[in-house]
Amino acid sequence: MRAGRLIVFTGPSGVGKGTLLASLRQLHPELFVSVSATTRSPRPGEIHGQHYYFVSREEFERMVAQGELLEWAEFAGNYYGTPRKAVERHIQEGHWVVLEIELEGARQVRRSFPDALQIFILPPSLEALEQRIRQRGQDSEAAIAKRLARAKEEVAAADEFDIQIVNDDLTQALQALEAALFEPVPC
Ligand code: ADP
Ligand code: 5GP
Repeated sequence: MRAGRLIVFTGPSGVGKGTLLASLRQLHPELFVSVSATTRSPRPGEIHGQHYYFVSREEFERMVAQGELLEWAEFAGNYYGTPRKAVERHIQEGHWVVLEIELEGARQVRRSFPDALQIFILPPSLEALEQRIRQRGQDSEAAIAKRLARAKEEVAAADEFDIQIVNDDLTQALQALEAALFEPVPC
């Protein structure tokens, strides 16, 4: 059986992580993308159990207290965390598991799973990032301001990651992502 593997996918909100992951999943349906818990409200079209598990702050705090989360962090006024059980089970079964998480969570995973492959997605510029968040059209002005402030901190930490990919042209970024995951590293 193939060995399980944990892959961490980080980058500022709006950089295109979700878009890249959706394309990657179509090409490689065997990848398991973890569904996070969050206290954020669903955006239009987001489905409980598919995009996130949308939970109350009380429920999230209970999950933290009972050790049910592999990592968690506060981001732009809400909690986000990775349910531990499904991830551990899929890795044990030999699957590749992708976590799409922000910087603080990625740092926690680096401590608990030092073998995880950590990938950081960069925007071509902060201006392009702002344009993408606005074009997505799903965040309030206050949420956009919080995301952009956090984006600067996150981009400054890109070098902590094993691999950095600039999502300028989507097709090229997807190819770089596939190469990072599936091409053998030369000795
Ligand atoms: P994230 O998951 O990182 O928050 P999304 O995948 O929701 O980001 O993408 C944010 C917006 O940027 C979406 O409207 C998406 O269509 C757009 N987008 C993603 N990648 C690119 C790209 N390479 N060039 C232009 N727009 C992009
Ligand atoms: P959004 O609200 O735009 O869906 O997500 C905001 C940020 O939270 C993104 O950077 C996203 O990667 C991150 N995020 C989503 N799920 C998790 C999680 O389970 N843990 C952590 N630490 N961050 C997450």
